[in-house]
Amino acid sequence: MPPHLHEVQAGAPAPRRDGAPVVLLLGGDGIGPEVVEAAAACMQAAARRLGRAIRLEEAPIGGAALDMGLPPLPEPTLRKALAADAVLLGAVGGPRWDDLPGPQRPEAGLLELRRQLGVFANVRPVRMFAGLEATSPLRPEVVAGTDLVVVRELLGGLYYGPRGRREGPGGPVVFDTLEYAQEQVDRAARFAFEMARRRRRSLTLVDKANVLESSRMWRERVQALAPEYPDVTVSFQYVDSCAMRLVREPRAFDVLLCENMFGDILSDEAAVLAGSIGMLPSASLGGRVGLYEPVHGSAPDIAGRGVANPIGAILAGAMLLEWSLGWSDAAACIEAAVARVLADGWRTGDLVPGGVPAPGVTVVGTRALTDRILAAIEDCTPQEGSSAPS
Ligand code: NAD
Repeated sequence: MPPHLHEVQAGAPAPRRDGAPVVLLLGGDGIGPEVVEAAAACMQAAARRLGRAIRLEEAPIGGAALDMGLPPLPEPTLRKALAADAVLLGAVGGPRWDDLPGPQRPEAGLLELRRQLGVFANVRPVRMFAGLEATSPLRPEVVAGTDLVVVRELLGGLYYGPRGRREGPGGPVVFDTLEYAQEQVDRAARFAFEMARRRRRSLTLVDKANVLESSRMWRERVQALAPEYPDVTVSFQYVDSCAMRLVREPRAFDVLLCENMFGDILSDEAAVLAGSIGMLPSASLGGRVGLYEPVHGSAPDIAGRGVANPIGAILAGAMLLEWSLGWSDAAACIEAAVARVLADGWRTGDLVPGGVPAPGVTVVGTRALTDRILAAIEDCTPQEGSSAPS
């Protein structure tokens, strides 16, 4: 079995325990607890189907912690996260806490958690499930079959380099610095190579090597590491042409490796392809403990109404099983169950453009959709579960 991605990154063995692995659930705010509950049920069901068990723990974070008179990342929550095998988070934030000063806001809890976990690679898969093509702003024939992953370096580059402002002869002058140590580039590149190995074995480095020195180093390092991964096809694409190609022929990509800022921008562009933000999972990896989240926020406008799309969180749960626990068979069960339920026409409201369902489509709430997915997981065959998800 290939190493778990967090082992590749940290160079450390996976935490070992006797008994069931521990997953910490951080529901957070708004629709966070609703979608995390759905994802937890699916993880449990997939594990059970394959004769395994997970121990679930819970802890408060964000506004939910603030409402209990605690800081946005309470010390016991952090301790539990560091001791867990993986963390699944819903979302934090909402208008109720928007007037608080920066360090006391719910978002500060999530940023501190990411820092404490030492995660340096953000991973966003974007997959167009069959039957959902009409929800995308792109033409169905362009977007059909899209299945790519953006790997974004998270702790280096322009957002972390020296910056400043000074007076020049013609007025104020500002600067930000794009800095990368070779070690930072190498660990992100190795991560992306490993990811490609688990998928269609194609890696595209996104850079601006015709202009930027930092990009030239990214190219050199990817070229230098490529012989260690002879089974992975490597290509290079300038960021500007990549932005165009993503909307022209998104099927051309498998794994896209990006430095921090390029990844920030392209991962949002790629996310739009899938139609609804409620469909998208993400993971922040590279520390000892992986952090898995849906891409969306706390959606205060629909919180508590039972209409949130749980699929982003459920697919984040599948990523957790595969990448932190090494259970690609259980992850495949969940992915196949989601695909089957969507193919059968079951949708939450966000997946119905214009609010008018097409023939054969039924709009249901969070719980009913989750129940359908749970039933499909129960039907998962061992063969289905043994094929790694693409
Ligand atoms: P959002 O993602 O919460 O919502 C944007 C729109 O998408 C809303 O109309 C919402 O109803 C819809 N939506 C989001 N998720 C959905 C789902 N699962 N099903 C159906 N519809 C869904 O973004 P926002 O409105 O900009 O932010 C709301 C709050 O969430 C803010 O406080 C923001 O700071 C916070 N936020 C948190 C995270 C995080 O915890 N990682 C990420 C983004 C935003």
